[in-house]
Amino acid sequence: MPKNSSRNAGRHFLQIPGPTPLPDRVLRAMDTPIIDHRGPEFGKLAKRALDGVKTIFKTANPVIIYTATGTGAWEAALVNTLSPGDRVLMVETGQFATLWKNMATKLGLKPEFISTDWRIGADPAVIEAKLREDKAHEIKAVCVLHNETATGCLSPVAEIRKAIDRAGHPALFLVDTISSLASTDYRHDEWGVDVTIGGAQKGLMLPPGMSFNAVSDKAIAASKNSKLVKSFWSWEDMLNANKNGYFPYTPATNMLQGLVVAIDMLHEEGLENVFARHDRLAEATRRAVRAWGLEILCRDAKYYSPTITAVLLPEGHDADKLRNLALDHFDISYGMSFGKYLGRYFRIGHLGDTNDLTILGALAGTEMALTLVGVPIKKGGVQAAMDYITSVHGAAQRVAAE
Ligand code: PLP
Repeated sequence: MPKNSSRNAGRHFLQIPGPTPLPDRVLRAMDTPIIDHRGPEFGKLAKRALDGVKTIFKTANPVIIYTATGTGAWEAALVNTLSPGDRVLMVETGQFATLWKNMATKLGLKPEFISTDWRIGADPAVIEAKLREDKAHEIKAVCVLHNETATGCLSPVAEIRKAIDRAGHPALFLVDTISSLASTDYRHDEWGVDVTIGGAQKGLMLPPGMSFNAVSDKAIAASKNSKLVKSFWSWEDMLNANKNGYFPYTPATNMLQGLVVAIDMLHEEGLENVFARHDRLAEATRRAVRAWGLEILCRDAKYYSPTITAVLLPEGHDADKLRNLALDHFDISYGMSFGKYLGRYFRIGHLGDTNDLTILGALAGTEMALTLVGVPIKKGGVQAAMDYITSVHGAAQRVAAE
């Protein structure tokens, strides 16, 4: 962008791993007059939202909707199910797992943190071994991030469920899907998750400020005996009010207007197609990174994230300098790096309302920015991504013609 201009032409490329760009249809749905949140129109809206969101979590049980960011839903999951001094097993997949662990400590829980090098997801075998050691069943919950947003590593939730069962351990299973929900396959009921934590601002294509707890019967039973202090987060008040289609306090009415439309849009596309689109964009991005000769932070393909690719820069190159340059010249934002890799990598978000050409535009901007900032790369990353996307479309074309 010329430095003497106060306007960027076209849309900003928001390639951070959430909040994601909002579809115009969601924006328009939210751009409506405020309605009475105790009136009949709201009752119908709330029912659509509360029923609709279950189809995204794939649960027949209630999903609690909070007017809060994801951090609030983390806290709600812990304070509703646990008691002071309870041991919880958590996995240090990256920055967000660390923040959740820190919260657990502040709330008076005793987290045991399985460490990793931040380059893989949670390993079911390690969780199983830890649970087997806990003969007295002092661990009350296993808490895992489905997708670690800080590193772009996905954890195998269904496998972790099986590991907990193999260990014969009664701990609750709490899963954060903030950067995976509505972007990759997730099944709250089938995978035996007790509390699934979700957020609005990523796959659900909404602004930040709404979050979710999908709850199993076992979690609801645990909430009756949980002793951690709670008021705003109390499931009981929410579940009681929700039964009649209302909330115990003023809900985010316009966010709910957006939510029902976002859910409609996800089903119009088809959840399987949404997941395939995210897989395609992720693979195209990884191929571009490899063609550039750069390293993907996630070091084991079985943990690759469908929503985020973190790209390591060669020693001596500053990822923040790259991000600033790319923003200045090409009006594109990437996610920053964290923790022990601070300044070493940047994250490309490819989630939410994003399509083939959006990611190709983003990768073109990235290839130019890497060149301009002086990172030694091979050309051809965008071409590799295009070749891959073309091949997927070609295969679909052949199937349609058969
Ligand atoms: N968990 C994950 C996986 C996240 O990516 C985030 C935020 O990006 C959070 C929790 C915290 O959510 P929020 O920033 O909406 O409070």
